[in-house]
Amino acid sequence: MNFQNFNLAYRYKSKKELKNSLIVFKIITSPFLVSLGSSLIKIAQRLKLPLKPFTANIYKHFCGGESLDDVIALSEKLSKYGVKSIPDYSVEGQAEEESFSKLENEVLKTIKIAHNNPDIPFAVFKPTGLVNPELLTKDSDIQNPEFKKFIERFNRIFSYARELNVRVLVDAEDFVYQHKIDDTLLNFMKRYNKSFPVVFTTLQMYRTDRLDYLKFLLTEAEKNDFILGIKFVRGAYMEKERAMAKKSNYPDPIYKTKVETDNAYNSALKFAVENINRINIFCATHNEESTLYLISLIDTLRISHSDERIFFSQLYGMRDNISFALASEGFNVAKYIPYGPVNKVIPYLIRRAQENSSASSHSKSELAMLKEVLKNKNN
Ligand SMILES: Cc1cc2nc3c(=O)[nH]c(=O)nc-3n(C[C@H](O)[C@H](O)[C@H](O)COP(=O)(O)OP(=O)(O)OC[C@H]3O[C@@H](n4cnc5c(N)ncnc54)[C@H](O)[C@@H]3O)c2cc1C
Repeated sequence: MNFQNFNLAYRYKSKKELKNSLIVFKIITSPFLVSLGSSLIKIAQRLKLPLKPFTANIYKHFCGGESLDDVIALSEKLSKYGVKSIPDYSVEGQAEEESFSKLENEVLKTIKIAHNNPDIPFAVFKPTGLVNPELLTKDSDIQNPEFKKFIERFNRIFSYARELNVRVLVDAEDFVYQHKIDDTLLNFMKRYNKSFPVVFTTLQMYRTDRLDYLKFLLTEAEKNDFILGIKFVRGAYMEKERAMAKKSNYPDPIYKTKVETDNAYNSALKFAVENINRINIFCATHNEESTLYLISLIDTLRISHSDERIFFSQLYGMRDNISFALASEGFNVAKYIPYGPVNKVIPYLIRRAQENSSASSHSKSELAMLKEVLKNKNN
């Protein structure tokens, strides 16, 4: 497996697109420019100034377009190289009924186009895009009519996905919301994952309780005879979680060190592969060691590279060197492709820029790769 084959990684981008990506990585590898840019965008948002001039480059790099049709066009381009696509309507932080319905409709549309379409193997959504997050906290009442509406939305999505045999990933979010989401998804897995894994829950392996929870889920799947669908991530909200635990005076739910998180992540992958008859694995990471580790487990157990029960995934605009190398070796790999109106995906874009400026060694190697590829690119 060669993650350094840069020309393979960026074959689908034109010279113009590569130049744009280069500008983006030059900006986001500078924590100063990211912090300045984020503040300017927030000010422009508050003053209701047009956002396109501030965000056009970064939007083009990290998003598939404004609409699902734009993502479908991109998915056709990526599929030429064996890379699949997962349209992700990335409008965040809009806690009102109209935006919950909008997200639900986008997910239902995605399920429809994913039906019998090997280029689009999953739909995805964030639970807080379908409900006011306050209703997911520990003290809120599950008899609340708003919570019932949320469960009905889940049900409409999963029953349609069941009908069309499409898998649906549900993102994991803040610790304080996750308990209700876990319970809800376990119930839906029991109901809809009998012969095909429609529902995929997400485990954030930076949480100290997740290995035990994974073992509990397997016991439930065996007892109730269903298939587990699990997306494995490390977890995106570490600083926020630590601050929240301190402020609200409960134990920090996250491992103290990165090494512990890495070990938990890899142990979870091992446990899942050893129980592949019950667990479908969606390995969502940009970490090369974990990717190689899962490959070694697959090869040791002589599982076919194209086995539908195992997927790798990276975000669009990041680590194409991993995605395209995996595809060239016959593994199932899919990019999450965010889309939505420019002014509504700003929180997503700011998060990506901040993540890349803090994970600077990865981003700097991405910058170096882009420079190298551009040298040899003719059009
Ligand atoms: C396709 C895809 C889907 C995703 N979906 C979700 C999702 O639904 N929910 C979600 O929360 N995240 C999600 N993420 C983000 C993910 O959780 C990580 O934040 C991100 O991918 C970086 O982790 P990594 O495994 O790629 O690799 P790395 O860069 O090796 O790991 C970085 C991660 O390690 C952990 N870490 C870093 N320092 C420490 C420390 N001192 N102590 C303990 N742990 C530490 C943190 O989780 C940090 O994000 C997704 C990522 C991808 C690629």
